[in-house]
Amino acid sequence: MALLLKTIPALNKSSKEYQPAGLSQASSPSLETNPVGEPLFLHDVSYMFDGVVFGLPVKPIGQSEIKASFHDTSEATEISLPRVDVEGGGFIELVDSMGSDISVVNAAKVSYARSAKSLNEKEEKLLNFLWNNHHTSPFRHCFLSFRVRCPIFVLRQWQKHEVGCAWKFDMNEQSARYSKLEHGYFRPETWRIQDIKNKQSSHGSLSPEDSAKADALLAGAYDVIDFAYNELLSMGVAREQARVILPVSTYTEFIWTGSLQAIMHFLSLRAKKETQLETRLYAEGIAKLTAEKFPKSTELILASLDWVEKA
Ligand SMILES: Cc1cc2nc3c(=O)[nH]c(=O)nc-3n(C[C@H](O)[C@H](O)[C@H](O)COP(=O)(O)OP(=O)(O)OC[C@H]3O[C@@H](n4cnc5c(N)ncnc54)[C@H](O)[C@@H]3O)c2cc1C
Repeated sequence: MALLLKTIPALNKSSKEYQPAGLSQASSPSLETNPVGEPLFLHDVSYMFDGVVFGLPVKPIGQSEIKASFHDTSEATEISLPRVDVEGGGFIELVDSMGSDISVVNAAKVSYARSAKSLNEKEEKLLNFLWNNHHTSPFRHCFLSFRVRCPIFVLRQWQKHEVGCAWKFDMNEQSARYSKLEHGYFRPETWRIQDIKNKQSSHGSLSPEDSAKADALLAGAYDVIDFAYNELLSMGVAREQARVILPVSTYTEFIWTGSLQAIMHFLSLRAKKETQLETRLYAEGIAKLTAEKFPKSTELILASLDWVEKA
């Protein structure tokens, strides 16, 4: 796995400045093993408390193939993140997570003052029982955080999922007031035909001739929009006004954080066939990344979906 890291002086400085009372600094920026010898975390700085070293984990060394970049005011840090690229120019990166399948089991087991150290058959059965019987609160102690680039029309559907998600007051999205939107516009690979019976649905594809015409119409519209957006900006129009010309197919970026339950609920609705394909592709990406951290919980959802091959 490729992993590139340069230390971040600015981050280290602020970590020291805000060092909590009772903690003493144990080490400088390092790539270390944890107390049981697992070479898992990158620390920008670590602290000693009662003889135990705590790192501030930037990221576990993970399973990723693709690099992502973070920028701060000093130096760029590049670190590999688990990532799924989505057709058309979007992507999803798993930027953070908390807990595991066993955390869910143990949140349930506290009811009878027990806990488990590993996930065996008994624990898997309990996990199944919890989800299938709507005993969902144990799934709320785990979290995942994703960085997503998708068209605005996909985000509009995503944002309808409110409960257990950091949206309403905590939503972090690229601002078209602060920056020019430069990630382009979504272009369908296939033009589907409007379904007559189900007003929300589509099927098949246009003929090659009609597809070429649709491609040309879209390209012409995007050229005009692109020209006008850039022209407005170069005339000195404020970015917050110039953006009014942009379509819902414009790519945006945001951070989505949700409890495991919220993410499983999202998958149960958005990874199924009834969901618009463009949104479903993102839900499938979320499923893949969630499965890396919560394989058994994700299995519970995938088992109920029609696009997944059943054993
Ligand atoms: C195929 C499909 C088509 C759709 N079409 C449309 C559409 O045409 N127009 C449109 O506006 N939306 C549409 N939606 C969005 C849909 O109505 C939901 O808003 C979205 O799926 C989020 O689901 P949710 O409400 O269960 O999620 P959340 O908002 O995250 O809620 C999670 C759960 O919490 C509970 N809950 C949440 N709020 C309340 C409440 N106020 N009272 C009681 N219980 C609550 C419910 O059990 C709910 O399932 C569509 C969704 C799908 C999957």
